[in-house]
Amino acid sequence: MSEIHATSGVLPSIPDDLSVPQFQLDYNDPNRPTRPANIPALIEDATGRRVFLPELRERTQGLANALSSLYSLREDDVVLLFSRNHVDYPVAIWAVHRLGGIISPANPDFGPKELEYQLKATKAALIITHPDALETSASAAQSIGMSPERILVFDVPGASTAKLVTVNDLVKRGSQLEAFTERKLRPGEGKTKLAFLSFSSGTTGTPKAVAIPHIALIANVLQMASHAKVNEDYAPWKDRRYRPGDVALGVLPLYHIYGLVVNLHFLLYNAMTVVVIPKFNFENMLKSIVRHRITHLMIVPPQAVLLCKHPAVKKYDLSGIRYIMIGAAPLSDEVNQKLFSLFPEAHIGQGYGMTETCTVTSIWSIERKRGFSGGAGQLVPGVIARIVKTDGTLGGYNDIGELVVKAPSNALGYYNNAQATKETFVDGWVRTGDEVKITPDGELWIIDRIKEILKVKGFQVAPAELEGTLLDHPDVSDTCVVGIPDEFSGEVPLAFVVLTVDAAARVKTNPRILEETRASILKHVADNKVAYKHLAGGVEFVDSIPKTPSGKLLRRVLREKAKELRKAP
Ligand code: AMP
Repeated sequence: MSEIHATSGVLPSIPDDLSVPQFQLDYNDPNRPTRPANIPALIEDATGRRVFLPELRERTQGLANALSSLYSLREDDVVLLFSRNHVDYPVAIWAVHRLGGIISPANPDFGPKELEYQLKATKAALIITHPDALETSASAAQSIGMSPERILVFDVPGASTAKLVTVNDLVKRGSQLEAFTERKLRPGEGKTKLAFLSFSSGTTGTPKAVAIPHIALIANVLQMASHAKVNEDYAPWKDRRYRPGDVALGVLPLYHIYGLVVNLHFLLYNAMTVVVIPKFNFENMLKSIVRHRITHLMIVPPQAVLLCKHPAVKKYDLSGIRYIMIGAAPLSDEVNQKLFSLFPEAHIGQGYGMTETCTVTSIWSIERKRGFSGGAGQLVPGVIARIVKTDGTLGGYNDIGELVVKAPSNALGYYNNAQATKETFVDGWVRTGDEVKITPDGELWIIDRIKEILKVKGFQVAPAELEGTLLDHPDVSDTCVVGIPDEFSGEVPLAFVVLTVDAAARVKTNPRILEETRASILKHVADNKVAYKHLAGGVEFVDSIPKTPSGKLLRRVLREKAKELRKAP
Protein backbone atom coordinates (compact mmCIF):
# COMPACT_ATOMS: atom_id res chain seq x y z
CA MET A 1 0.00 0.00 0.00
CA SER A 2 1.47 3.33 -0.97
CA GLU A 3 -1.03 5.87 0.29
CA ILE A 4 -2.87 6.19 3.57
CA HIS A 5 -6.14 8.12 3.54
CA ALA A 6 -7.98 9.83 6.34
CA THR A 7 -10.65 7.51 7.64
CA SER A 8 -12.94 9.79 9.61
CA GLY A 9 -15.39 12.48 8.50
CA VAL A 10 -16.77 13.43 5.11
CA LEU A 11 -15.35 16.58 3.63
CA PRO A 12 -17.97 18.88 2.07
CA SER A 13 -17.08 20.60 -1.19
CA ILE A 14 -14.61 23.37 -0.52
CA PRO A 15 -15.53 26.70 -2.11
CA ASP A 16 -12.74 27.73 -4.48
CA ASP A 17 -14.13 31.16 -5.36
CA LEU A 18 -14.13 32.76 -1.93
CA SER A 19 -11.59 34.86 -0.12
CA VAL A 20 -11.02 34.24 3.60
CA PRO A 21 -13.33 37.12 4.73
CA GLN A 22 -16.03 36.13 2.26
CA PHE A 23 -15.94 32.63 3.70
CA GLN A 24 -15.87 33.88 7.29
CA LEU A 25 -18.31 36.81 7.03
CA ASP A 26 -20.55 36.41 3.97
CA TYR A 27 -20.83 32.75 2.96
CA ASN A 28 -24.07 31.02 3.72
CA ASP A 29 -22.61 27.64 4.65
CA PRO A 30 -25.31 25.08 5.47
CA ASN A 31 -22.84 23.10 7.62
CA ARG A 32 -21.77 25.99 9.77
CA PRO A 33 -23.04 26.14 13.34
CA THR A 34 -25.32 29.13 13.91
CA ARG A 35 -24.00 31.91 16.11
CA PRO A 36 -26.68 33.19 18.49
CA ALA A 37 -26.89 37.01 18.39
CA ASN A 38 -25.76 37.33 22.01
CA ILE A 39 -22.53 35.35 21.52
CA PRO A 40 -19.57 37.64 20.85
CA ALA A 41 -16.89 36.60 18.39
CA LEU A 42 -14.06 38.11 20.42
CA ILE A 43 -13.48 39.46 23.91
CA GLU A 44 -10.60 41.78 24.69
CA ASP A 45 -8.92 40.19 27.71
CA ALA A 46 -7.82 43.32 29.58
CA THR A 47 -11.00 45.37 29.19
CA GLY A 48 -13.65 42.70 28.77
CA ARG A 49 -14.88 44.51 25.64
CA ARG A 50 -17.11 42.19 23.65
CA VAL A 51 -16.90 42.35 19.87
CA PHE A 52 -19.74 40.84 17.87
CA LEU A 53 -19.55 39.59 14.31
CA PRO A 54 -21.53 42.52 12.78
CA GLU A 55 -19.06 44.93 14.37
CA LEU A 56 -16.11 42.99 12.94
CA ARG A 57 -17.80 43.12 9.54
CA GLU A 58 -18.36 46.87 9.79
CA ARG A 59 -14.83 47.59 10.99
CA THR A 60 -13.46 45.49 8.14
CA GLN A 61 -15.54 47.56 5.72
CA GLY A 62 -14.31 50.88 7.18
CA LEU A 63 -10.67 49.84 7.18
CA ALA A 64 -10.88 48.48 3.63
CA ASN A 65 -12.36 51.80 2.45
CA ALA A 66 -9.54 53.71 4.11
CA LEU A 67 -6.75 51.43 2.89
CA SER A 68 -8.10 51.67 -0.62
CA SER A 69 -8.75 55.45 -0.73
CA LEU A 70 -5.99 56.81 1.47
CA TYR A 71 -3.19 54.27 0.96
CA SER A 72 -4.04 53.08 -2.55
CA LEU A 73 -3.70 49.48 -1.39
CA ARG A 74 -4.08 47.36 -4.48
CA GLU A 75 -4.21 43.81 -5.78
CA ASP A 76 -1.37 41.64 -4.41
CA ASP A 77 0.12 44.39 -2.26
CA VAL A 78 1.63 42.83 0.86
CA VAL A 79 0.79 44.19 4.31
CA LEU A 80 3.09 43.16 7.09
CA LEU A 81 1.08 42.48 10.22
CA PHE A 82 3.64 43.02 12.97
CA SER A 83 1.58 42.78 16.11
CA ARG A 84 0.62 41.02 19.28
CA ASN A 85 -2.85 39.56 19.37
CA HIS A 86 -5.46 42.29 19.16
CA VAL A 87 -9.22 42.33 18.57
CA ASP A 88 -8.60 44.19 15.30
CA TYR A 89 -6.12 41.56 14.08
CA PRO A 90 -8.79 39.77 12.00
CA VAL A 91 -10.17 43.14 10.89
CA ALA A 92 -6.76 44.01 9.41
CA ILE A 93 -6.48 40.62 7.69
CA TRP A 94 -9.95 40.70 6.25
CA ALA A 95 -9.77 44.33 5.08
CA VAL A 96 -6.55 43.61 3.18
CA HIS A 97 -8.02 40.43 1.70
CA ARG A 98 -11.18 42.18 0.57
CA LEU A 99 -8.95 44.47 -1.50
CA GLY A 100 -7.04 41.55 -3.01
CA GLY A 101 -3.97 42.17 -0.84
CA ILE A 102 -1.79 39.66 1.00
CA ILE A 103 -1.03 39.49 4.72
CA SER A 104 2.42 38.56 5.99
CA PRO A 105 2.30 38.05 9.76
CA ALA A 106 5.43 38.54 11.86
CA ASN A 107 6.43 38.06 15.48
CA PRO A 108 6.19 41.49 17.21
CA ASP A 109 9.17 40.61 19.40
CA PHE A 110 11.46 40.49 16.38
CA GLY A 111 14.30 43.00 16.34
CA PRO A 112 14.75 45.48 13.45
CA LYS A 113 16.98 43.12 11.45
CA GLU A 114 14.54 40.23 11.65
CA LEU A 115 11.69 42.51 10.59
CA GLU A 116 13.77 44.02 7.82
CA TYR A 117 14.41 40.53 6.44
CA GLN A 118 10.68 39.86 6.22
CA LEU A 119 9.88 43.32 4.80
CA LYS A 120 12.43 42.80 2.05
CA ALA A 121 11.45 39.22 1.26
CA THR A 122 7.79 40.19 0.87
CA LYS A 123 8.31 43.69 -0.58
CA ALA A 124 5.67 44.87 1.88
CA ALA A 125 3.80 48.07 1.04
CA LEU A 126 2.50 48.79 4.54
CA ILE A 127 3.07 47.79 8.16
CA ILE A 128 0.24 47.40 10.65
CA THR A 129 1.73 47.19 14.10
CA HIS A 130 1.13 47.33 17.84
CA PRO A 131 2.31 50.19 20.10
CA ASP A 132 4.79 47.73 21.68
CA ALA A 133 6.43 47.10 18.33
CA LEU A 134 6.38 50.62 16.99
CA GLU A 135 10.02 51.43 17.55
CA THR A 136 11.19 48.31 15.75
CA SER A 137 8.75 49.01 12.92
CA ALA A 138 10.09 52.56 12.53
CA SER A 139 13.70 51.44 12.56
CA ALA A 140 13.19 48.60 10.05
CA ALA A 141 11.05 50.80 7.79
CA GLN A 142 13.75 53.46 7.77
CA SER A 143 16.47 51.02 6.83
CA ILE A 144 14.52 49.79 3.80
CA GLY A 145 13.49 53.32 2.78
CA MET A 146 9.80 52.94 3.63
CA SER A 147 8.07 56.17 4.60
CA PRO A 148 6.98 56.33 8.28
CA GLU A 149 3.53 57.19 6.93
CA ARG A 150 3.24 53.60 5.78
CA ILE A 151 3.11 52.44 9.43
CA LEU A 152 -0.33 52.09 11.01
CA VAL A 153 -0.92 51.12 14.59
CA PHE A 154 -3.58 49.25 16.54
CA ASP A 155 -5.28 51.15 19.36
CA VAL A 156 -4.38 49.94 22.82
CA PRO A 157 -6.02 51.48 25.90
CA GLY A 158 -3.45 53.60 27.72
CA ALA A 159 -0.79 53.45 24.97
CA SER A 160 0.32 56.73 23.53
CA THR A 161 -0.43 56.87 19.81
CA ALA A 162 -0.38 60.64 19.38
CA LYS A 163 0.80 61.72 15.91
CA LEU A 164 0.24 58.20 14.62
CA VAL A 165 -2.43 56.90 12.33
CA THR A 166 -4.35 54.27 14.23
CA VAL A 167 -6.63 51.56 12.93
CA ASN A 168 -9.51 53.17 14.85
CA ASP A 169 -8.91 56.49 13.04
CA LEU A 170 -8.96 54.70 9.72
CA VAL A 171 -12.08 52.70 10.50
CA LYS A 172 -13.85 55.94 11.43
CA ARG A 173 -12.60 57.88 8.42
CA GLY A 174 -13.26 54.91 6.17
CA SER A 175 -16.91 54.82 7.14
CA GLN A 176 -17.29 58.28 5.50
CA LEU A 177 -15.30 57.39 2.40
CA GLU A 178 -16.31 55.90 -0.88
CA ALA A 179 -16.96 52.15 -0.64
CA PHE A 180 -14.07 50.02 -1.84
CA THR A 181 -14.44 47.56 -4.69
CA GLU A 182 -14.39 44.03 -3.35
CA ARG A 183 -11.88 41.73 -5.00
CA LYS A 184 -14.11 38.81 -5.97
CA LEU A 185 -12.50 35.54 -6.98
CA ARG A 186 -13.37 33.71 -10.15
CA PRO A 187 -14.31 30.00 -9.88
CA GLY A 188 -11.12 28.10 -9.08
CA GLU A 189 -9.12 31.25 -8.31
CA GLY A 190 -9.11 30.53 -4.55
CA LYS A 191 -6.57 27.82 -5.32
CA THR A 192 -3.96 30.28 -6.54
CA LYS A 193 -4.83 33.70 -5.15
CA LEU A 194 -2.47 34.35 -2.24
CA ALA A 195 -3.87 35.19 1.18
CA PHE A 196 -0.84 34.86 3.46
CA LEU A 197 2.95 34.84 3.35
CA SER A 198 3.79 33.10 6.62
CA PHE A 199 7.41 32.40 7.40
CA SER A 200 8.91 28.95 7.88
CA SER A 201 12.32 27.53 7.10
CA GLY A 202 10.91 24.22 5.88
CA THR A 203 13.30 21.31 5.77
CA THR A 204 16.48 23.36 5.42
CA GLY A 205 17.96 26.86 5.24
CA THR A 206 16.75 30.24 6.45
CA PRO A 207 13.11 31.30 6.92
CA LYS A 208 11.12 31.56 3.70
CA ALA A 209 7.71 33.01 2.87
CA VAL A 210 5.20 30.20 2.50
CA ALA A 211 2.69 31.07 -0.24
CA ILE A 212 -0.72 30.26 1.24
CA PRO A 213 -3.76 30.69 -1.02
CA HIS A 214 -7.24 31.55 0.28
CA ILE A 215 -8.54 28.03 -0.23
CA ALA A 216 -5.88 26.58 2.08
CA LEU A 217 -7.22 28.26 5.21
CA ILE A 218 -10.85 27.66 4.16
CA ALA A 219 -10.09 23.98 3.49
CA ASN A 220 -8.36 23.46 6.82
CA VAL A 221 -11.28 25.00 8.72
CA LEU A 222 -13.68 22.68 6.86
CA GLN A 223 -11.39 19.67 7.33
CA MET A 224 -11.31 20.26 11.07
CA ALA A 225 -15.07 20.94 11.18
CA SER A 226 -15.98 17.80 9.25
CA HIS A 227 -13.60 15.73 11.38
CA ALA A 228 -15.34 17.05 14.50
CA LYS A 229 -18.81 16.85 12.90
CA VAL A 230 -19.49 20.30 14.27
CA ASN A 231 -23.07 20.52 13.09
CA GLU A 232 -24.24 16.98 13.73
CA ASP A 233 -25.74 15.42 16.81
CA TYR A 234 -23.02 12.80 16.91
CA ALA A 235 -22.71 13.07 20.67
CA PRO A 236 -24.78 14.40 23.56
CA TRP A 237 -24.42 18.19 23.90
CA LYS A 238 -22.16 17.94 26.93
CA ASP A 239 -19.74 15.69 25.04
CA ARG A 240 -19.57 17.72 21.83
CA ARG A 241 -16.07 18.94 21.15
CA TYR A 242 -16.90 22.45 19.88
CA ARG A 243 -20.21 24.15 20.66
CA PRO A 244 -21.51 27.63 19.84
CA GLY A 245 -20.98 29.76 22.90
CA ASP A 246 -17.92 27.87 24.16
CA VAL A 247 -15.18 30.29 25.15
CA ALA A 248 -11.59 29.73 24.07
CA LEU A 249 -8.40 31.26 25.30
CA GLY A 250 -6.69 33.20 22.52
CA VAL A 251 -3.16 33.18 23.84
CA LEU A 252 -1.47 31.44 20.92
CA PRO A 253 0.15 34.11 18.78
CA LEU A 254 -1.93 34.91 15.73
CA TYR A 255 1.21 35.46 13.65
CA HIS A 256 1.84 31.70 13.85
CA ILE A 257 -0.23 29.43 11.63
CA TYR A 258 -1.62 27.42 14.61
CA GLY A 259 -3.07 30.57 16.18
CA LEU A 260 -4.20 32.08 12.90
CA VAL A 261 -6.04 29.10 11.46
CA VAL A 262 -7.10 27.01 14.45
CA ASN A 263 -7.36 29.37 17.40
CA LEU A 264 -8.97 32.15 15.37
CA HIS A 265 -10.65 31.17 12.09
CA PHE A 266 -11.71 27.64 13.02
CA LEU A 267 -13.19 28.69 16.36
CA LEU A 268 -15.02 31.67 14.83
CA TYR A 269 -16.43 29.30 12.21
CA ASN A 270 -17.78 27.22 15.11
CA ALA A 271 -19.62 30.21 16.58
CA MET A 272 -17.34 30.16 19.59
CA THR A 273 -15.86 33.16 21.41
CA VAL A 274 -12.13 33.82 21.48
CA VAL A 275 -10.66 35.82 24.37
CA VAL A 276 -7.84 37.80 22.79
CA ILE A 277 -4.69 37.88 24.92
CA PRO A 278 -1.82 40.02 23.64
CA LYS A 279 1.07 38.49 25.54
CA PHE A 280 1.59 35.19 27.29
CA ASN A 281 2.17 35.32 31.03
CA PHE A 282 1.29 32.13 32.85
CA GLU A 283 -0.29 33.50 35.98
CA ASN A 284 -2.25 36.10 34.02
CA MET A 285 -3.40 33.30 31.76
CA LEU A 286 -4.77 31.43 34.79
CA LYS A 287 -6.59 34.58 35.88
CA SER A 288 -8.06 35.02 32.40
CA ILE A 289 -9.26 31.41 32.39
CA VAL A 290 -11.21 32.05 35.59
CA ARG A 291 -12.39 35.57 34.67
CA HIS A 292 -13.78 34.62 31.27
CA ARG A 293 -14.94 31.12 32.22
CA ILE A 294 -12.74 29.62 29.54
CA THR A 295 -13.80 26.19 28.28
CA HIS A 296 -11.19 25.61 25.56
CA LEU A 297 -7.40 25.82 25.61
CA MET A 298 -5.22 25.63 22.54
CA ILE A 299 -1.65 25.58 23.73
CA VAL A 300 1.93 24.49 23.04
CA PRO A 301 3.92 21.93 25.07
CA PRO A 302 5.74 24.41 27.39
CA GLN A 303 2.35 25.80 28.45
CA ALA A 304 1.19 22.23 29.13
CA VAL A 305 4.31 21.74 31.28
CA LEU A 306 3.41 24.84 33.29
CA LEU A 307 -0.17 23.63 33.77
CA CYS A 308 1.24 20.41 35.18
CA LYS A 309 4.05 21.81 37.30
CA HIS A 310 3.54 25.45 38.23
CA PRO A 311 2.58 25.91 41.91
CA ALA A 312 0.16 28.79 41.08
CA VAL A 313 -2.21 26.37 39.33
CA LYS A 314 -3.59 25.25 42.69
CA LYS A 315 -4.84 28.77 43.45
CA TYR A 316 -7.25 28.85 40.52
CA ASP A 317 -10.45 27.01 39.78
CA LEU A 318 -9.84 25.52 36.35
CA SER A 319 -12.75 23.11 36.50
CA GLY A 320 -14.56 24.89 33.63
CA ILE A 321 -11.99 23.63 31.13
CA ARG A 322 -13.41 20.91 28.96
CA TYR A 323 -10.97 20.86 26.04
CA ILE A 324 -7.20 21.11 25.68
CA MET A 325 -5.44 20.86 22.34
CA ILE A 326 -1.64 20.74 22.31
CA GLY A 327 0.38 21.16 19.15
CA ALA A 328 3.38 22.72 17.35
CA ALA A 329 6.07 20.56 19.00
CA PRO A 330 6.47 17.15 20.68
CA LEU A 331 4.65 16.59 23.98
CA SER A 332 6.23 14.18 26.43
CA ASP A 333 4.30 11.16 27.60
CA GLU A 334 4.81 12.24 31.21
CA VAL A 335 3.21 15.68 30.68
CA ASN A 336 0.45 14.15 28.59
CA GLN A 337 -0.47 11.66 31.36
CA LYS A 338 -0.32 14.37 33.99
CA LEU A 339 -2.73 16.54 32.00
CA PHE A 340 -5.12 13.60 31.77
CA SER A 341 -5.11 13.24 35.55
CA LEU A 342 -5.37 16.99 36.24
CA PHE A 343 -8.39 17.39 33.94
CA PRO A 344 -10.18 14.05 34.25
CA GLU A 345 -13.32 15.16 32.41
CA ALA A 346 -11.76 17.21 29.60
CA HIS A 347 -11.18 16.33 25.96
CA ILE A 348 -7.39 16.34 25.64
CA GLY A 349 -5.14 15.49 22.76
CA GLN A 350 -2.57 16.56 20.23
CA GLY A 351 -2.80 18.14 16.85
CA TYR A 352 0.02 18.00 14.33
CA GLY A 353 0.67 20.16 11.32
CA MET A 354 2.91 22.79 9.82
CA THR A 355 2.89 26.14 8.08
CA GLU A 356 3.41 24.46 4.70
CA THR A 357 0.24 22.34 5.13
CA CYS A 358 -1.62 25.44 6.33
CA THR A 359 -1.98 23.81 9.64
CA VAL A 360 -3.74 20.75 10.90
CA THR A 361 -2.79 17.45 9.29
CA SER A 362 -3.92 15.29 12.19
CA ILE A 363 -5.79 15.61 15.45
CA TRP A 364 -6.88 13.12 18.05
CA SER A 365 -9.77 10.96 16.95
CA ILE A 366 -13.28 12.27 17.44
CA GLU A 367 -14.20 8.78 18.63
CA ARG A 368 -12.00 9.30 21.69
CA LYS A 369 -12.32 11.96 24.35
CA ARG A 370 -8.60 11.66 24.96
CA GLY A 371 -5.88 11.11 22.41
CA PHE A 372 -3.32 8.35 22.80
CA SER A 373 -0.59 9.67 25.07
CA GLY A 374 2.29 10.58 22.77
CA GLY A 375 0.19 10.12 19.62
CA ALA A 376 -0.42 12.96 17.16
CA GLY A 377 -3.94 11.83 16.25
CA GLN A 378 -5.57 10.82 12.99
CA LEU A 379 -5.36 12.40 9.58
CA VAL A 380 -8.11 14.98 9.12
CA PRO A 381 -10.51 14.41 6.21
CA GLY A 382 -8.99 15.19 2.84
CA VAL A 383 -5.39 14.36 3.84
CA ILE A 384 -3.50 11.62 2.03
CA ALA A 385 -0.22 10.45 3.53
CA ARG A 386 2.81 8.72 2.11
CA ILE A 387 5.51 7.22 4.27
CA VAL A 388 8.84 7.49 2.44
CA LYS A 389 11.34 5.04 3.91
CA THR A 390 15.07 5.81 4.08
CA ASP A 391 15.66 3.68 0.96
CA GLY A 392 13.21 5.92 -0.93
CA THR A 393 10.45 3.32 -1.23
CA LEU A 394 6.93 3.87 0.06
CA GLY A 395 5.90 2.17 3.26
CA GLY A 396 2.53 1.26 4.72
CA TYR A 397 1.06 0.98 8.21
CA ASN A 398 3.69 0.56 10.93
CA ASP A 399 6.57 1.46 8.60
CA ILE A 400 8.82 4.29 9.68
CA GLY A 401 9.67 7.01 7.21
CA GLU A 402 9.30 10.64 6.26
CA LEU A 403 5.70 11.82 6.17
CA VAL A 404 4.73 13.36 2.84
CA VAL A 405 1.20 14.72 2.60
CA LYS A 406 -1.31 15.87 0.04
CA ALA A 407 -4.17 17.99 1.33
CA PRO A 408 -6.55 20.65 0.05
CA SER A 409 -4.94 22.98 2.60
CA ASN A 410 -1.39 22.60 1.28
CA ALA A 411 0.46 25.79 0.46
CA LEU A 412 1.65 26.44 -3.09
CA GLY A 413 5.35 26.72 -2.39
CA TYR A 414 7.88 29.29 -1.19
CA TYR A 415 7.28 32.77 -2.54
CA ASN A 416 9.90 33.78 -5.10
CA ASN A 417 12.05 30.76 -4.28
CA ALA A 418 11.82 28.12 -6.98
CA GLN A 419 14.72 26.05 -5.69
CA ALA A 420 13.37 25.65 -2.13
CA THR A 421 9.89 25.05 -3.54
CA LYS A 422 11.18 22.22 -5.69
CA GLU A 423 12.73 20.51 -2.69
CA THR A 424 9.64 20.57 -0.46
CA PHE A 425 6.59 20.84 -2.73
CA VAL A 426 6.36 18.04 -5.26
CA ASP A 427 3.25 17.73 -7.48
CA GLY A 428 0.95 18.95 -4.73
CA TRP A 429 2.66 16.83 -2.05
CA VAL A 430 4.50 18.44 0.87
CA ARG A 431 7.58 16.86 2.40
CA THR A 432 7.18 17.40 6.13
CA GLY A 433 10.73 16.58 7.24
CA ASP A 434 9.17 14.62 10.10
CA GLU A 435 9.86 10.94 10.66
CA VAL A 436 6.65 9.13 11.57
CA LYS A 437 4.71 5.93 11.54
CA ILE A 438 0.98 5.36 11.18
CA THR A 439 -0.45 2.39 13.05
CA PRO A 440 -3.30 0.32 11.52
CA ASP A 441 -5.82 2.13 13.74
CA GLY A 442 -4.92 5.32 11.83
CA GLU A 443 -2.90 6.93 14.63
CA LEU A 444 0.06 9.08 13.55
CA TRP A 445 3.15 8.85 15.75
CA ILE A 446 5.92 11.44 15.31
CA ILE A 447 9.20 9.61 15.87
CA ASP A 448 11.81 12.25 15.09
CA ARG A 449 12.43 15.44 13.17
CA ILE A 450 14.77 14.86 10.26
CA LYS A 451 14.75 18.45 9.01
CA GLU A 452 17.15 21.05 10.34
CA ILE A 453 14.76 23.30 12.25
CA LEU A 454 14.62 23.35 16.02
CA LYS A 455 11.36 23.90 17.82
CA VAL A 456 11.91 26.12 20.83
CA LYS A 457 8.68 26.56 22.82
CA GLY A 458 6.82 25.67 19.63
CA PHE A 459 8.60 28.38 17.61
CA GLN A 460 10.83 27.53 14.68
CA VAL A 461 14.50 28.30 14.98
CA ALA A 462 16.47 27.87 11.77
CA PRO A 463 20.11 26.85 12.43
CA ALA A 464 21.11 28.45 9.12
CA GLU A 465 19.74 31.80 10.28
CA LEU A 466 21.69 31.69 13.55
CA GLU A 467 24.81 30.51 11.74
CA GLY A 468 24.54 33.59 9.50
CA THR A 469 24.34 35.84 12.54
CA LEU A 470 27.25 34.06 14.24
CA LEU A 471 29.44 34.48 11.17
CA ASP A 472 28.94 38.24 11.47
CA HIS A 473 30.83 38.12 14.79
CA PRO A 474 34.45 39.17 14.17
CA ASP A 475 35.93 36.21 16.11
CA VAL A 476 33.91 33.44 14.40
CA SER A 477 35.32 31.75 11.31
CA ASP A 478 32.96 28.76 11.10
CA THR A 479 29.97 27.48 13.03
CA CYS A 480 27.18 24.94 13.25
CA VAL A 481 24.05 25.25 15.38
CA VAL A 482 22.22 22.21 16.73
CA GLY A 483 19.43 21.65 19.25
CA ILE A 484 19.77 20.08 22.66
CA PRO A 485 16.81 18.78 24.65
CA ASP A 486 15.34 21.06 27.28
CA GLU A 487 12.60 20.07 29.69
CA PHE A 488 10.64 23.31 29.40
CA SER A 489 11.38 24.64 25.91
CA GLY A 490 11.51 21.24 24.19
CA GLU A 491 14.94 22.05 22.83
CA VAL A 492 17.32 25.03 22.77
CA PRO A 493 20.08 26.04 20.34
CA LEU A 494 23.76 25.34 21.00
CA ALA A 495 26.49 26.73 18.73
CA PHE A 496 29.73 24.97 17.86
CA VAL A 497 32.18 27.70 16.95
CA VAL A 498 35.58 27.72 15.26
CA LEU A 499 37.51 30.86 16.18
CA THR A 500 39.36 32.97 13.63
CA VAL A 501 43.15 32.57 13.61
CA ASP A 502 43.56 35.94 15.38
CA ALA A 503 41.00 35.17 18.06
CA ALA A 504 42.50 31.72 18.65
CA ALA A 505 45.96 33.29 19.06
CA ARG A 506 44.63 35.78 21.62
CA VAL A 507 42.94 33.00 23.56
CA LYS A 508 46.23 31.09 23.68
CA THR A 509 47.95 34.00 25.43
CA ASN A 510 45.30 34.20 28.14
CA PRO A 511 42.65 31.55 28.81
CA ARG A 512 40.38 34.17 30.40
CA ILE A 513 39.89 35.62 26.93
CA LEU A 514 38.09 32.43 25.94
CA GLU A 515 35.30 33.13 28.42
CA GLU A 516 35.12 36.76 27.31
CA THR A 517 34.82 35.64 23.71
CA ARG A 518 32.08 33.16 24.62
CA ALA A 519 30.17 35.94 26.44
CA SER A 520 30.62 38.28 23.51
CA ILE A 521 29.27 35.68 21.04
CA LEU A 522 26.25 34.99 23.26
CA LYS A 523 25.60 38.71 23.51
CA HIS A 524 25.95 39.19 19.77
CA VAL A 525 23.16 36.68 19.13
CA ALA A 526 21.04 38.10 21.99
CA ASP A 527 21.40 41.62 20.55
CA ASN A 528 20.28 40.57 17.10
CA LYS A 529 17.64 37.92 17.64
CA VAL A 530 14.29 37.48 19.36
CA ALA A 531 14.59 35.78 22.78
CA TYR A 532 13.67 32.20 21.80
CA LYS A 533 16.54 32.16 19.25
CA HIS A 534 19.20 32.99 21.88
CA LEU A 535 21.90 30.39 22.45
CA ALA A 536 20.41 28.99 25.66
CA GLY A 537 22.34 25.76 24.98
CA GLY A 538 25.63 27.70 25.09
CA VAL A 539 28.69 28.00 22.85
CA GLU A 540 31.23 25.20 22.41
CA PHE A 541 34.60 25.90 20.79
CA VAL A 542 35.94 23.33 18.33
CA ASP A 543 38.92 23.20 15.95
CA SER A 544 36.80 22.47 12.89
CA ILE A 545 33.24 21.74 11.82
CA PRO A 546 32.85 18.27 10.32
CA LYS A 547 31.72 18.44 6.69
CA THR A 548 31.12 16.14 3.76
CA PRO A 549 33.67 16.32 0.90
CA SER A 550 31.20 18.63 -0.88
CA GLY A 551 31.23 21.03 2.07
CA LYS A 552 27.82 20.18 3.60
CA LEU A 553 27.69 20.43 7.39
CA LEU A 554 27.52 17.08 9.16
CA ARG A 555 24.92 18.21 11.67
CA ARG A 556 24.17 14.72 12.84
CA VAL A 557 27.75 14.29 14.10
CA LEU A 558 27.57 17.54 16.06
CA ARG A 559 24.10 16.76 17.35
CA GLU A 560 25.52 13.57 18.87
CA LYS A 561 28.50 15.48 20.26
CA ALA A 562 26.17 18.07 21.84
CA LYS A 563 24.13 15.33 23.47
CA GLU A 564 27.30 13.84 24.89
CA LEU A 565 28.54 17.23 26.18
CA ARG A 566 25.25 18.16 27.83
CA LYS A 567 24.53 14.70 29.26
CA ALA A 568 23.40 14.90 32.87
CA PRO A 569 26.33 13.87 35.09
P1 AMP B 1 5.45 25.13 12.10
O1 AMP B 1 5.47 25.30 10.64
O2 AMP B 1 6.13 26.22 12.85
O3 AMP B 1 4.06 24.89 12.62
O4 AMP B 1 6.29 23.84 12.44
C1 AMP B 1 5.88 22.58 11.97
C2 AMP B 1 6.67 21.49 12.64
O5 AMP B 1 6.42 21.46 14.06
C3 AMP B 1 6.29 20.10 12.18
O6 AMP B 1 6.88 19.78 10.94
C4 AMP B 1 6.83 19.25 13.32
O7 AMP B 1 8.21 19.06 13.23
C5 AMP B 1 6.53 20.12 14.54
N1 AMP B 1 5.25 19.71 15.15
C6 AMP B 1 4.04 20.27 14.98
N2 AMP B 1 3.10 19.62 15.71
C7 AMP B 1 3.73 18.62 16.36
C8 AMP B 1 3.33 17.57 17.26
N3 AMP B 1 2.08 17.45 17.68
N4 AMP B 1 4.28 16.71 17.69
C9 AMP B 1 5.56 16.81 17.29
N5 AMP B 1 6.00 17.77 16.45
C10 AMP B 1 5.10 18.66 15.98
